[in-house]
Amino acid sequence: MADEKLQRLEIVTPERKVYTEDVRMAVLPGSEGEFGVLPDHAALVSALKIGVIRVHHEGKVFKITVSGGFVEVRDSKVTVLANSAEREDQIDQERAAAAKERAEQRLAAPGPEIDVARAEVALKRALNRLNAVG
Ligand code: ATP
Repeated sequence: MADEKLQRLEIVTPERKVYTEDVRMAVLPGSEGEFGVLPDHAALVSALKIGVIRVHHEGKVFKITVSGGFVEVRDSKVTVLANSAEREDQIDQERAAAAKERAEQRLAAPGPEIDVARAEVALKRALNRLNAVG
């Protein structure tokens, strides 16, 4: 609709700007659960967990994977600072499958040199990417 209110969504990582667009709504994987943000939302800051941002833009919904980070909402601007983030079309499925395999092998036979918590988080990132494209 022409008169639909929009808000700026910006998603950045330490490496790159992943997305900047005026969108209708963003649904974010907050550390306390998923929540949607529409224009004129109250100001907030929240941690994000590994998950998917659902972007409602020009009548379509698409996904951007994030591997944790923070979101700030203020003055109809949604700023996501993510550890890493990928649009669906940027996800390399083979790479994610290999990362999943590596993490699963480490967790199946965790020797003294294996950081289990790190492998668990790597597995979550890989599964998140695979789920988003699968
Ligand atoms: P890997 O072990 O394959 O590097 P990772 O989960 O450790 O995966 P991250 O540290 O989260 O990777 O991300 C490092 C960079 O690589 C980021 O820019 C991220 O967007 C990118 N990246 C990681 N995995 C993929 C993937 N499967 N497809 C596309 N980009 C990816």
